[in-house]
Formats: sequence, structure tokens, C-alpha cells
Amino acid sequence: MRIVLLGAPGAGKGTIAKLLNAHDGSVQISTGDILRGAVKAGSEMGKKAKGYMERGELVPDSLIMEIMEARLQEPDASKGFILDGFPRTIPQAQDLKKLLDKLSIKLDVVIDIEVPKDVILDRLTTRRTCSNADCQEIYNVKSKPPSPEGKCLKCGSPTVQRADETTEAITQRLETYNEKTAPLIDFYKKEGFLKTVSSMNSDEIVQEIIRSVTKK
Ligand code: ADP
Ligand code: ZN
Repeated sequence: MRIVLLGAPGAGKGTIAKLLNAHDGSVQISTGDILRGAVKAGSEMGKKAKGYMERGELVPDSLIMEIMEARLQEPDASKGFILDGFPRTIPQAQDLKKLLDKLSIKLDVVIDIEVPKDVILDRLTTRRTCSNADCQEIYNVKSKPPSPEGKCLKCGSPTVQRADETTEAITQRLETYNEKTAPLIDFYKKEGFLKTVSSMNSDEIVQEIIRSVTKK
């Protein structure tokens, strides 16, 4: 499948993307993961992105489009992709449309994951991420804890609270989402791609997405 996942930070986009990948062999493309990898590696791209990310602001559209243009043409994307955290602004959505046209790729559906704000805040403050850039497994101190020593259960690296998961940065990210990304819901509604899901259960959401894609 070729899907865009919309939803506030903490809505569960990453979890749902991974479940969909397991279902059909598609690849998760997360601009957040790509950027964090670049920051960790200290690449040119990472140096440009670091400050914006730590403040909970968006990285410039031009940098994101450069990443995505290359990423969508990598061989693994031909089996389908789940875009997680991209597009994030109307200009990115417009550029994505042009890029997909150019590559003769059609989207199946755009999924908007609706989650109440108090649930989002609780999820983000209790989230821990594996510090190994090649792993980035996500934990939750309440519902999916790492080892008692705080190590990743997959690779053994320490898990950390992301720099942008302080209360200030989270508040900023939610504001940025409402201002810059929420307008994409209307954009994709007009394009005829939008489907809204509002379950709290990832497996239920995944089943609903699979049904909506296979029905077409
Ligand atoms: P979130 O949990 O906020 O969805 P992500 O992992 O998707 O986090 O992104 C982390 C940070 O990376 C964002 O706050 C932003 O600074 C940057 N970022 C990720 N994707 C994009 C994008 N498509 N456009 C601009 N900035 C992005
Ligand atoms: Zn790990």
C-alpha cells in the first residue's frame, strides 16, 4: 500500500506504520527517524536540522523535499510505503503531489488518526526511545517498558527521553501541528483521499486501514 499517516505527535503513527509493514512488506518512511539519524551521524543535513528539532519546530520544507525525493526512489519503496510524519505542511503536500506525479506513483489513502489531547500528552511524556540510530525502538514507561536498567530489549542500547519530549517542546510540537499540519486534513479531503480513524487500539486501526485499501 501507499499511504500517508496524519495525526498529532503521539497519535501512534510509528506503531501503525510498523504493523502495516509487517502486513504487506511495505516500508515505513519516517522523516523524523531519518532526521534523527542524520543528527546523530553529524551529517550536513543533520547539522541543518538539529536546532529546529530540539525546539519542536519544523525543519525547512526544502530540506525535507530533498530527503523525500531521494527516499521514494530507493528500491525498497517499490513494494509500497507508509509515510509517517510527512507531509507536515501544505507546501510539502503540494510538492509531494508533484513528485508522485513525476514518478507515476498513486497514493491509496491518507489516514487521519484522531486521538484526544490528554491521551497524547500522557503518551509523549512517558515515551522512551532506543538511542541506537539503527534501531530507534519506542518504549513507554507505563505500557511497554524497556529493561529494568532502561536498556532496549532489541539491541541493548540505552533508551532515552528525546530532547523534544520535554513539556515545553511537546507543547510547541502540538501547537506546530495544529497550525501547520492540521490544515492537511482539509487538503486531502478535497483531494478525495481522506479517511479518519479514531480507535485507541492500534490493531483495530490497522484492520480498518487494510479494509479501506482492499475495498478500492
Ligand atoms: P513527532 O513525534 O513530533 O511526530 P517526528 O519524529 O515525526 O516527531 O519528528 C521530529 C521532528 O523532526 C519534528 O518536530 C520536526 O522538527 C522534524 N520533522 C520531522 N518530519 C518533518 C517534516 N515532514 N517537515 C518538517 N520537519 C519535520
Ligand atoms: Zn534498540
